[in-house]
Amino acid sequence: MASGPTVNIRRDVDDKFYRYRMPLLTTKIEGKGNGIKTVVPNMSDVARALSRPPSYPTKFFGCELGAQTSFDEKNDRYIVNGAHDPNRLRELLDHFIEKFVLCKSCKNPETDLVILKSGRNEEIIRDCKACGERTDVDMRHKLTTFILKNPPVKSKKDRKRNAGTAAANVGGGNSPTHEAGDAEVADAADGAESDDELTKKIKAEAAELNTDAAITDEGWVADTSPEAVKQRMKALEGSMAAAVIGGDDEGSDEDVNSPYSQLGRWVEENRGDVEDLKTFAVDVYKKVQDLGIEKKHKAVLVLMQALFTDEAVTEIRNYLPLFKKMISSERHQKALLGGLERLVGLMQPSLVPVVPKLLMEFYQADILEEEVITQWGTHVSKKYVDKETSKRVRKASEPFLKWLEEAEDDEDEDDE
Ligand SMILES: [Zn+2]
Repeated sequence: MASGPTVNIRRDVDDKFYRYRMPLLTTKIEGKGNGIKTVVPNMSDVARALSRPPSYPTKFFGCELGAQTSFDEKNDRYIVNGAHDPNRLRELLDHFIEKFVLCKSCKNPETDLVILKSGRNEEIIRDCKACGERTDVDMRHKLTTFILKNPPVKSKKDRKRNAGTAAANVGGGNSPTHEAGDAEVADAADGAESDDELTKKIKAEAAELNTDAAITDEGWVADTSPEAVKQRMKALEGSMAAAVIGGDDEGSDEDVNSPYSQLGRWVEENRGDVEDLKTFAVDVYKKVQDLGIEKKHKAVLVLMQALFTDEAVTEIRNYLPLFKKMISSERHQKALLGGLERLVGLMQPSLVPVVPKLLMEFYQADILEEEVITQWGTHVSKKYVDKETSKRVRKASEPFLKWLEEAEDDEDEDDE
């Protein structure tokens, strides 16, 4: 809630009695190296004060800074990649307010954004409730493209309908170009592919499932709290080698100098400094070859745990060729799934909602086979993690398993 310090929405107005105030934008730097990012914890409070969706100012920051942004409305997370100074972001917020909030005529912030269509032309207007003027927005700004694709929604009900991508796909909907999928929308500006309908559906279902789990399974709530995560990360820090080796059935190779420990440490130490993950993936493979373990399923287990950060969804495509190269048997696939259990269950609980998405990537790349995933998904195992964690990860994968099952049913029908 907006309990912190507040400032005038127009910071150039030095009037203590100015009616329009907003929380002072706060920031938090998370991650390190290549994965460093700036989280804006109170973005939704700030945006509410401005009557704009929180994604707009976030995306605006991205446009101005040339940085990728991501939003997860369900978990109220608004992120700009890279480390940014809070004062710089506050200045940019002033620009956003000037360009996309304040009435151009009377400078009052009580405006709505309205999209006007004439033929193919679309224009964004600030509709002022104070003076009644309708003033335009500079359509040359990149944010306008984003706004047109994710138009402002008026009521909560509309908002919900827009978010329910699965329902929108089924119903056809009456907003032809506007599908504001909200579950962890990765910035598409950098060439990230847009999700197909199936992936959207899975994502929506996964998000729902996650909510359910949070309500029905109190343990899970505790597990995903920032404190718990922090504690777990602390426990894991520096003991990556131990974590990656424990619990595998291929002998008790717990030597910190084993090639697997070396690989885990090497990846962890180097992944933060890389510019380009695709190139890094090649380096990883070279390292695996140097260590002479490129055919070992255990190397796959280690890589699953060591390669990914909490942005696995965007990282995974860079690593698919690497996994494809290394996975040559059912046993390798099982090691990959075991690594996924540890990654999601122990190291990066924030990835739980995207388990179906990750499985889908591996499945579509022909890295994981249907039979192996199904077998894995329907059998809780203590091989890689404790039983409870094993159950949770499998529960998170349910939308994907269900889809696999349905896809198979469809095929059967076609055969008849
Ligand atoms: Zn006005």
